[in-house]
Amino acid sequence: MSEARARFVMQRMRELVTVDQEAGCLIARGRRIFLLRDRTLQQLVTIGSDMFGPAVWGALYEAGLRSGRIFGQRVIDQIGPDPGLVMAEILGSLAGSGWGVFRVIYFEPRHRIVIRVLNSVFAEPGRGYTQRHFPLGHLAGVFEVLFKRPYRGEEALCIGKNDPFCEFVYYPEEGEKAAQYQ
Ligand SMILES: [Zn+2]
Repeated sequence: MSEARARFVMQRMRELVTVDQEAGCLIARGRRIFLLRDRTLQQLVTIGSDMFGPAVWGALYEAGLRSGRIFGQRVIDQIGPDPGLVMAEILGSLAGSGWGVFRVIYFEPRHRIVIRVLNSVFAEPGRGYTQRHFPLGHLAGVFEVLFKRPYRGEEALCIGKNDPFCEFVYYPEEGEKAAQYQ
């Protein structure tokens, strides 16, 4: 993250997050939030994966998808449906919440969208390929409300399997899933 970007994020954090000492919680946008160390999150996911196998990745993707639909719609309601503005807000929010740095590499919503991810909280070299997780699903949910059709997201590249960076690729769903949406 650039220094200017880091300052912006810290400034927004200070504006956004208040401490309610009496209730013992942090509040942002009127709701309770909490801070989690990256290791704690990784450990939870590892335990989930050990106990439930790949199903845990499906659940993380689904949780991201649902939150992406809600958050994406909220952003569209606030600033309008301009894809460039919506993407800037969403990717800034993902970085500001600690998920990593997200950059648009290719953006042709009728065919394919490619997002490069640096410093993903789920990926470390040699840790293994994480496949499907929260931010991957989150962006699929955002694209769904933005372009009014469902998307299938894949993590095509991952530093966990020794690629130089992580890269998410999205395709519009065809056939039955797309028909259901209309
Ligand atoms: Zn990855």
